Amino acid sequence: MPSLTTIADEARIALDTMADRTTGLWSPSIRLGVTGLSRAGKTVFISALVHNLIHGGRLPLFDAQSSGRIAKAYLEHQPDDAVPRFQYEDHIADLVDRRIWPASTRAISELRLTIEYESASAWGRLLSRGKISVDIVDYPGEWLLDLPLLGKDFETFSREAIELSELPGREDIARPWRNLAASIDPDAEADEVLARKLFESFASYLRACKEESRALSTLPPGRFLMPGDLEGSPALTFGPLSNFDGRARAGSMRAMMERRYEAYKTHVVKPFFREHIARLDRQIVLVDAMQAINAGPSAVNDLERSLMEILSCFRPGRSNLLTGLVSRRIDRILIAATKADHIHHESHDRLQAIVRRLAERAIARADFSGASVDVVAMAAIRATREGTVTRGRQTLPVIIGTPLTGESIGDDVFDGETETAIFPGDLPESPAALFRKDAPPPAGDPAIRFVRFRPPKLERTAEGMTLSLPHIRLDRALQFLLGDKLA
Ligand code: GDP
Repeated sequence: MPSLTTIADEARIALDTMADRTTGLWSPSIRLGVTGLSRAGKTVFISALVHNLIHGGRLPLFDAQSSGRIAKAYLEHQPDDAVPRFQYEDHIADLVDRRIWPASTRAISELRLTIEYESASAWGRLLSRGKISVDIVDYPGEWLLDLPLLGKDFETFSREAIELSELPGREDIARPWRNLAASIDPDAEADEVLARKLFESFASYLRACKEESRALSTLPPGRFLMPGDLEGSPALTFGPLSNFDGRARAGSMRAMMERRYEAYKTHVVKPFFREHIARLDRQIVLVDAMQAINAGPSAVNDLERSLMEILSCFRPGRSNLLTGLVSRRIDRILIAATKADHIHHESHDRLQAIVRRLAERAIARADFSGASVDVVAMAAIRATREGTVTRGRQTLPVIIGTPLTGESIGDDVFDGETETAIFPGDLPESPAALFRKDAPPPAGDPAIRFVRFRPPKLERTAEGMTLSLPHIRLDRALQFLLGDKLA
């Protein structure tokens, strides 16, 4: 039986979405969610998407654009006044003028892109006004990982946090928090300073999981890593305890932790799902597969697990705690591996196969009846060109770009100005090799040589106009996400 509060929540979502629908009749709009764990490439993806549409970029696989049916695309005021705007202009100035990567997503933001187009069919031209607004909603994937918390009490949350911290790769970094939790008497008087300490040691364990060499994906609570504007609030100042059962004593440390945990669910998690996730029509989930591949099988398996949790948030039907009654539901989900410009095009299909394998079980488990799910390996912004280098009798495929200041290969440290050709290595032919738990972590010479590059230098036309940002398969992503709406 769902509890009364759940029914009230669901009814509210249904009303909200009905209101959206009716207003939607007057101005057709579609809400596109863009998510992924931190540094997956959300900011870069949105900037590249908008830039390419506004500037008529080369998008051969995006039918409306390549057949010349898009009259114009422009930014408009977003409909939600309480949500920060995605800082498109700043990000483009960074990318194009300064050739630096823009500041990454830290919280939710939104941008409305309106496209005026001509329908491909005579019927379509008669029926539609040929104008659609795409509300792009950018939000941290970390926040999605909180959904399962709604079905768990504090005791279960604590127990699972402890169990997970015993997995290989996590044990040593979890120790300070584990020791602190074990030293706290749950029945002792509530203590604010101790609560803060517990939160801080748990949050630094979660942060350590994310570090580059481990690349373990994230555990809830999502706001411990991406607090948005809630930093320091009581709803965010708690942590899992160990060694307790039965009922909490009033005024005890455990009672305080339980209350804050419940407040986190009520005031942070539920409103986020109700006000944002439940209103999405389409979703793209970005994954940084390359970083996980470089860090070895435990990171790859971990990425699979978190992808499964992320995708389960978009599952329609009653099995989903909050979205059960949502009339508007996500009908297309794209899982995209970004940064494919770090490898030679001969490996792009391999990368796509790896992501497909990553998503397979999650897709099967989530049972997205009615939704279509696709997978792509792409680069929202292509920072490299391809070439070949001859070494003796061998011709090696290389990628050429400007590595960021301080990046290195072996003893070579790059200065951020010099163009360099790099042999990136090959991805394995069969994805299975990357998932084998018994496989040794990559030793000194990783499977792929991962160097971060500066954004590309944009060419200018004779009239001084900058051309649109180069990409790999961004048009394929757009066709899947928006193509039918512009048909
Ligand atoms: P977010 O946290 O999901 O918003 O991640 P960002 O969009 O800020 O991307 C994080 C970093 O990944 C950027 O600063 C870039 O270094 C890199 N990156 C993201 N997308 C691309 C891409 O398409 N190509 C390349 N070469 N690097 C990318």
